[in-house]
Amino acid sequence: PVVTRFAPSPTGFLHIGGARTALFNWLYARGRGGKFLLRIEDTDRERSTPAATEAILKGLTWLGLDWDGDVVSQFARKDRHAEVAQEMLARGTAYRCYSSAQEIADWKAAQEAAGVSYAVFQSPWRDADPATWPEAPYAIRMKAPRTGETLVEDRVQGRVTIRNETLDDMIVLRSDGTPTYMLAVVVDDHDMGVTHVIRGDDHLVNAARQQMIYDAMAWQVPVWAHIPLIHGPDGKKLSKRHGATGLEEYQVLGYPAAGMRNYLTRLGWAHGDMEIFTSEQAMEVFDLKGIGKAPARLDFKKLENTCGHHIAMSDDAALLQEIHAYLAAAGLPALTDAQSALLEKAMYCVKDRAKTLPELLEKAHFALISRPVVPDEKSAAALDTVSRGILDSLTPHLQTASWTKDALEPILNGVAGENGIGFGKLAAPLRAALAGRAATPSVFDMMLVIGRDETIARLSEAAA
Ligand code: GLU
Repeated sequence: PVVTRFAPSPTGFLHIGGARTALFNWLYARGRGGKFLLRIEDTDRERSTPAATEAILKGLTWLGLDWDGDVVSQFARKDRHAEVAQEMLARGTAYRCYSSAQEIADWKAAQEAAGVSYAVFQSPWRDADPATWPEAPYAIRMKAPRTGETLVEDRVQGRVTIRNETLDDMIVLRSDGTPTYMLAVVVDDHDMGVTHVIRGDDHLVNAARQQMIYDAMAWQVPVWAHIPLIHGPDGKKLSKRHGATGLEEYQVLGYPAAGMRNYLTRLGWAHGDMEIFTSEQAMEVFDLKGIGKAPARLDFKKLENTCGHHIAMSDDAALLQEIHAYLAAAGLPALTDAQSALLEKAMYCVKDRAKTLPELLEKAHFALISRPVVPDEKSAAALDTVSRGILDSLTPHLQTASWTKDALEPILNGVAGENGIGFGKLAAPLRAALAGRAATPSVFDMMLVIGRDETIARLSEAAA
């Protein structure tokens, strides 16, 4: 069975690149009846914060990426990491190194003085007889091969070879008894039964080192898939100046989670020319083959288009929930029950062309306001004396009309005709009166959503 994991370090917000890594792991596991695990790599006690862990869990939850089992804390497993380091000693695949930091620094300085610019420290303790090990603090170093190559078979990057002479005998357990990152990752992935490691390609060289630890313990190496980072629209490394980099910012900007998930799925992965997926469809077709080797570029236009599709596809009640969550995340006032009810009723005529949730709310403005309707500058211009008179002459017709588009259409056309104006000329003051906006859903849709009494009340107020 497939087991994947997401292993973020809780040192800041959840980066959009991290969110995509989590998503790929989630899709891969979910599409194969496997498990998706979450491990918080909180061994760096100085930089790890509970708030960052909180932000990661919140972000994953918003994006709809559910994990299996409990969240694993890497720090909590430090005794197990130390135990494995001792086991490496026992197997002879690691050794005690008593070289002090000062000795290592001196050694490096000497190498530099001799003109060796990049020197790999070679501990004098590597081949020492354990019988000669003193009773003194020591680090445990892995006895790494010094010649030959380490071969990383990567599903995305292909076959990558690292010359062993460029890698030192890495420390797996420091002299203060704490494990190094490299050891912790391998032990955790092994113990958690991880079969596929899908992560950023900034970890590719680490994979070679980690593979040495797997070999040293005679453990099965997982399938590697190192995915290229996300770049900005200009092809440069993604940074603040490109716009939002944290997942939470996207929620605050009002991108719906389903659209975001779809967009991130396609960011660096392709399945033919398929662009719009439900999560179920994505799980079904997601594979490692489709991951590109070149960095994907963030494309905000495409993000908006994808989100527009998902808003249109979304079920009204679910969309309403999403709007509540968006308003809370953005620190905006919550909707009242009456507003929510009317918004749900209006959904059919506002969700079709909205690319973000705030855009949808702007289209739904007419359903969220209460009287008196305050027209914005652009729509106010449509309420001149003549137009107000026309609105006034319209209201009696509305008192008795059946409240359907088919019945209202001839009435509005009739009034427009009587006044010698086209329908468009009538629609402008109607929009102003009903919504206080120039760009709105069709006047019929607005009238149907708010109902007869409210329509007449708004028109009368505008005509007065
Ligand atoms: N904690 C590492 C990071 O946030 C990821 C390690 C891994 O996926 O193996 O970059």
